[in-house]
Amino acid sequence: MFIDSHCHLFYEDFREDLPEVIARAADAGVTRFIVPATNLRTAEEALVLCDTYPGIYAAVGFHPLDLAEYSDERLNAVSALTVHPKVVAIGEIGIDYFYDTSPRELQREVFARQLALAAEKQLPVIVHTRDSVQDAIDIAARAVADHPAWREGIPRGVFHCFTGDADQARMLFGLGFLVSFPGPVTFKKSAMPEVLRQIGLDNIMVETDAPFLTPVPYRGKRNEPSYIPIIARTIAEILGHPVETVARITTRNAERLFGLPASP
Ligand SMILES: [Zn+2]
Ligand SMILES: [Zn+2]
Repeated sequence: MFIDSHCHLFYEDFREDLPEVIARAADAGVTRFIVPATNLRTAEEALVLCDTYPGIYAAVGFHPLDLAEYSDERLNAVSALTVHPKVVAIGEIGIDYFYDTSPRELQREVFARQLALAAEKQLPVIVHTRDSVQDAIDIAARAVADHPAWREGIPRGVFHCFTGDADQARMLFGLGFLVSFPGPVTFKKSAMPEVLRQIGLDNIMVETDAPFLTPVPYRGKRNEPSYIPIIARTIAEILGHPVETVARITTRNAERLFGLPASP
């Protein structure tokens, strides 16, 4: 059994056929889904999905590229949504230096503010980075130092779609964070297989980031959670483990991070 730890099932791309997408995922052994919002509107949409599908859970927060509508009031509204029993994280939050749609200073400030919110709510975070891993690690480290009681002894968050090096991954593990890997781990030019060989399985999860980042051999098409086993098989081959081991450990990590009931 797998958990897709990061899929944006509220996207337009799934409007026509989400029941079929969920059914195909179940056939592939993917029965639970973490759906991270990107702003207040998509947070509300993610909660509608939570109320409709038993296997769907949500994260609520402001994505660094979605700050045009950011305001203190809207963050308060997002914060109020955390009372929903299926809100399992604050996310996705973070920093993105690849696109220039949000001022960098504002991104860092909003990221720090949402980390503090997560600490206050004792929720984990889902962190997005692009060309910004080290800055994001530094800000996360400050949040941990400022809030030592934030989920002490249980994972504090995940750096999703991890693209840093093995040292940065180990730094994150030391701070109580996991890292997760989507479809690009199947790409020929990916640097992640080498990173994976250095960090092993213990602190990782699998994700699709659907509808984006489709793995080989479906690259170029819409991504969906039923492709999680492709990513898990690739990681199993890289590490020389049976795919069942990858399933068991990544599922257990997601259960601990998001506080989900243990699978049988
Ligand atoms: Zn992301
Ligand atoms: Zn995402």
